[in-house]
Amino acid sequence: MKCLTPENFAIKFGRYGGLFVPETLVQPLTDLSAAYERLKGSDQFKSELESLRKNFAGRPTPLYFARNLSRKLDCKVYLKREDLVHGGAHKLNNTLGQALVAKNMGKTRLIAETGAGQHGVATAIVGANLGFETQVYMGEVDIERQKMNVYRMELMGAEVIPVRSGSRTLKDAINEAMRDWAASFDHTHYLLGTAAGAHPFPSMVRDFQSVIGIEARRQIQEAEGRLPDSIVACVGGGSNAMGIFAPFLKDEVRLLAVEAGGRGPGKNDKTADSGASLGYGTDGVLHGALTKILQDPYGQILESYSVAAGLDYPGVGPELAFLAETGRVQPKIADDHTAMQGFRALSRLEGIIPALESAHAVGYALQEPEALGDLVIINISGRGDKDLTTVMEYENL
Ligand SMILES: *Cc1c(COP(=O)(O)O)cnc(C)c1O
Repeated sequence: MKCLTPENFAIKFGRYGGLFVPETLVQPLTDLSAAYERLKGSDQFKSELESLRKNFAGRPTPLYFARNLSRKLDCKVYLKREDLVHGGAHKLNNTLGQALVAKNMGKTRLIAETGAGQHGVATAIVGANLGFETQVYMGEVDIERQKMNVYRMELMGAEVIPVRSGSRTLKDAINEAMRDWAASFDHTHYLLGTAAGAHPFPSMVRDFQSVIGIEARRQIQEAEGRLPDSIVACVGGGSNAMGIFAPFLKDEVRLLAVEAGGRGPGKNDKTADSGASLGYGTDGVLHGALTKILQDPYGQILESYSVAAGLDYPGVGPELAFLAETGRVQPKIADDHTAMQGFRALSRLEGIIPALESAHAVGYALQEPEALGDLVIINISGRGDKDLTTVMEYENL
């Protein structure tokens, strides 16, 4: 086994990232880091992942020219169709990759955190398919709100463990999963759901999601003979955004990261009423990394809010925090209302019902078309079937 030096450990994106964890988690993170470094160069690993992506996940996903939306926005709009990935969102790109790493490390059990249940479902899918014992930590409040996803996970053989600490939502589920991992890592992999947390998670999750951007780059070249002027993606923890942005970082392409503005300005304190860590957050440590987080002046994590459950996270991946600070990525904000407009527009104009998360990206494009240039790719991170009751309730308010 290759030994990691403390320098490898401190992998950072500018001042963000790193490994701010209790001592008990250093060993599993070091092991994971070493295993991932070894596997990502392995032809056998790559071909196994490639085969699952193609035959199980349904990749490559299309890059679709949205004719009617293009007319409305007065520029050429292409949609990267991650809503067509098995499971209905980009999340499987990450869970497939990590589950294969876990398998190669000889692990037999997967644990994961979930908020709305989407990442729990994507973990249950790979758990069933690749033969792991799977347990998913989920806040009690979320279990009550997301019964269908709890049932989906159970159908696929995963056990959902209720989390009763703190606010009984996502951030507490992550804490519980980390506690479990510290005691179980000899046979358990912790499958973190976004490009956040301690090293190597932000880099590893970005790499597995980069398949989105690698495909999109080839597809836009084929369709238009050039790169786009801009790419728009929504940001929760940042995995679909980093996935589509990463292969374009060195190009002259505007990268627009759309965060959840929640109920919008005017109501309460805006920081506590959104998921916009890049826009409204300040430096702090959350779940093992230094990044931008929503916190009060005493460093207490604030409760985030968005109508899109997947954007309801009080932190953001450290690489996005870094790229936003250097100006390479431009953070933007779309509130609930803007997202609802995006949701309606894409459904009506193109016959594609986007996830409420992705609808933030579409809504932003409708709100600020002059930022897009002549040719834009919008990442449709997931499909909206899961959100129909939420939308119906929102309309009835
Ligand atoms: C979970 C989720 C997101 C947000 O997560 P990221 O890690 O920021 O990509 C966005 N869209 C959909 C459809 C999701 O399920």
